[in-house]
Amino acid sequence: MKPPTQPVPIWVAGHQVTGEHTTPITPPDGGDPVAEVAVADPSHVEEAVQTAHDVGRELASLPAHRRADALDHVSRRLTQSREELARLIMAEGGKPIRWSRIEVDRAAATFRLASEEARRWSGELQRLDTDTAGEGRIALNRRVSRGPVLGITPFNFPLNLVAHKVAPALAVGAPIVLKPAPATPLSALFLGDLLAETDLPDGSWSVLTVPNDRMDALVADPRLPVVSFTGSGPVGWHIRDSVPRKHVTLELGGNASAVVCADWNSDADLQQAATRIAAFGMGQAGQSCISVQRVIADTSIYPRLLDLLTHEVGNQVLGDPDHEGTTLGPMINTRAAARAESWVAEAVEAGARVLVGGRRDGARLQPTLIVDAPLDARVNRDEVFAPVVSMREVDGTEAAFAAVNDSDFGLQVGVFTHDITTAFKAHRDLDVGGIIIGDVPSYRADQMPYGGTKGSGIGREGVRFAMDDLTYDRSLVFTGA
Ligand code: NAD
Repeated sequence: MKPPTQPVPIWVAGHQVTGEHTTPITPPDGGDPVAEVAVADPSHVEEAVQTAHDVGRELASLPAHRRADALDHVSRRLTQSREELARLIMAEGGKPIRWSRIEVDRAAATFRLASEEARRWSGELQRLDTDTAGEGRIALNRRVSRGPVLGITPFNFPLNLVAHKVAPALAVGAPIVLKPAPATPLSALFLGDLLAETDLPDGSWSVLTVPNDRMDALVADPRLPVVSFTGSGPVGWHIRDSVPRKHVTLELGGNASAVVCADWNSDADLQQAATRIAAFGMGQAGQSCISVQRVIADTSIYPRLLDLLTHEVGNQVLGDPDHEGTTLGPMINTRAAARAESWVAEAVEAGARVLVGGRRDGARLQPTLIVDAPLDARVNRDEVFAPVVSMREVDGTEAAFAAVNDSDFGLQVGVFTHDITTAFKAHRDLDVGGIIIGDVPSYRADQMPYGGTKGSGIGREGVRFAMDDLTYDRSLVFTGA
């Protein structure tokens, strides 16, 4: 990247501004800032919120084809800007270039899906004569926006998770004020450049940086009745508790498991499981809410899987994010890597063995595979959010599923099985938002319902499901129909 010359402006109600303050965006490995970004003055926040409030009716009554065209335009422009945006994602968060490109592709898909859904979005005609009291009546149930949205996003998918807030909101005609993560606002602000090319009314969207210590006031602002948050549990639940009367969606963390069942036992099966677990336990330095953290393997295949996984984890390439062969780069900062390293050390003190990795250099933690970690060790119990996988053996599917459910979180689980009965049992018994059969828990398609149970949050995203979440049914009942 070129050294920064001018601060990157923020987007307030459809126009760019640079206020009194700026903040440097420093790469995870340290070194020179990759950019200087404007920080919203209180007057900018006020303008973004007030215009979002004022424009609600206009945006909601915009013809569906115009909202859809705007979203489609952004999708196409994201694809055209793929390399530039991928390099921005890499520069701000240290994500390897190959993963950064995938993220841009997914963001384009998220906007395209929202464009398609915006054309279909309407409501339903419901008959009420299922009872004598309803004879001669029908209801027209229209989906109505709950109102302007405050979207708050984390650092780890700085573009696609922003897309998951902005695109569904605009698709249903809800204005949105988007606040990206402090470490990674550049790709979100670039998205603002593309939104500005559309003819959506001013105030429909803003993308602005706000210091964390000013966020409580923004969250509490009554002109933003919906808060859609993706990030860590402590911040998410704090928001939920602080505004009990608002509509709050929380997409939080997890300690996702990959279960490998006894029937997943051919050499090819086990090789595939090991390859996928290593790639999605270590990829993006483990900083995905559905990274594989816990591997729960049946006793009958455990030694073979352990051998293969040891090999595959050892094959991961921790290196320069700009190299095509790099599979993981630095974590978001040295503090985060040191925290994960200390959790590994703590597990080792309690009896765990490190089979691969475990060492750290600055923000870079080696891909790490550990076994025999006590169940209450933080590498098992909490969200490690680092390239650390903890493996254990269990006897039978019943025990494996009990181990999955023995968690304060419930986002997704991967179950490696060929057995349809086991798949249905998983679907019935696992207390999670999604179950991936024959693959890791880390699989997500952007149209799927996505979200968690327990400490992993409340509500669902995935374009159409987010649109449901941002709206409510308003009925019009006809008599004499
Ligand atoms: P974080 O909670 O530290 O920050 C998330 C956002 O909240 C940032 O924009 C931050 O500035 C903002 N914030 C901080 N204090 C706030 C306050 N008092 N009020 C309102 N907003 C505030 O999370 P992070 O470290 O950026 O991201 C990592 C976390 O995100 C992990 O726990 C991960 O599992 C989770 N995550 C969840 C999903 C999901 O879809 N379930 C997806 C990605 C990441």
